[in-house]
Amino acid sequence: MRTITLPSGEQVPALGQGTWFMGESARRHADEVASLQAGIDLGMTLIDTAEMYGDGGAEELVGKAIAGRRDKVFLVSKVYPHNASRRGAIAACERSLQRLNTDCIDLYLLHWRGQVPLAETIEAFEALQRSGKIRHWGVSNLDVYDMQELLQAPGGDKVAVNQVLYNLTRRGIEYDLQPLLRTRSIPLMAYSPIEQGRLLNAPALRTIAQRHQATPAQIALAWLLRQEQVIAIPKAASLAHVQENHAALSVKLTEQDLAELDRAFPPPNEATPLEML
Ligand code: NDP
Repeated sequence: MRTITLPSGEQVPALGQGTWFMGESARRHADEVASLQAGIDLGMTLIDTAEMYGDGGAEELVGKAIAGRRDKVFLVSKVYPHNASRRGAIAACERSLQRLNTDCIDLYLLHWRGQVPLAETIEAFEALQRSGKIRHWGVSNLDVYDMQELLQAPGGDKVAVNQVLYNLTRRGIEYDLQPLLRTRSIPLMAYSPIEQGRLLNAPALRTIAQRHQATPAQIALAWLLRQEQVIAIPKAASLAHVQENHAALSVKLTEQDLAELDRAFPPPNEATPLEML
């Protein structure tokens, strides 16, 4: 598995697994657990979840999927902005740990910016680190100005990642946010890497996929995975999708492919506000 280096020096897989909309249906439960486990066995050991997903249901499902293999997994969860206060974040983290059935979250993210000052959330994250409940902390959905403010706050330079919406149809971050993160050696975690499935019918992706005897999803993932400092976290709830996404690691896009993708999905030529789903 290709790895990405966190600012701490720790390596994490470049291809992980998302869990939004998991843990919401008893009928899909077994398939979702089996898919996550198959992904772990293939080396997609970074699992992204959040207290928000399924109102705690996704964390519970992840807890079941990683039982007996916790040591293989790099576990990422997120705190709601309204819980991200000095005391609120600690209580929220303890609830997440209980649902995940573990004693430590590897990376704990502020899900998006809310009313609590960033400096206060950092203090809470540092307290959680001191008590061993989280190992690293990071942020999600922070645009350039928020990121700059974070980096100037006490301890803010310890941010491990920024998780943002990034795929071929959402390239705005390439103008300013991604360069800022690169300069500071902060990895970018790309969420909704296949635009929740909406990218699958794009003609350019279909043409390039045919050339590689691959699928449009694999081309969309390969486009992200070829970039340094980018971690992609597709969500897949079937074995076939998990295997297909894993195989994207061996798709090598050519200069011609990249030029065609740039024509179909032009990079930004001006600053655009960060989009979020
Ligand atoms: P994705 O872009 O990962 O798309 C998921 C959808 O694509 C599902 O319907 C899935 O179907 C389908 N799919 C997956 N693999 C394939 C494939 N190979 N071929 C065809 N279809 C496929 O969207 P998400 O929004 O789920 O983003 C990924 C993760 O990022 C989330 O699950 C979550 O963990 C995180 N996220 C974070 C956000 C934040 O604010 N921080 C916001 C949004 C997402 P099926 O499930 O049936 O396999």
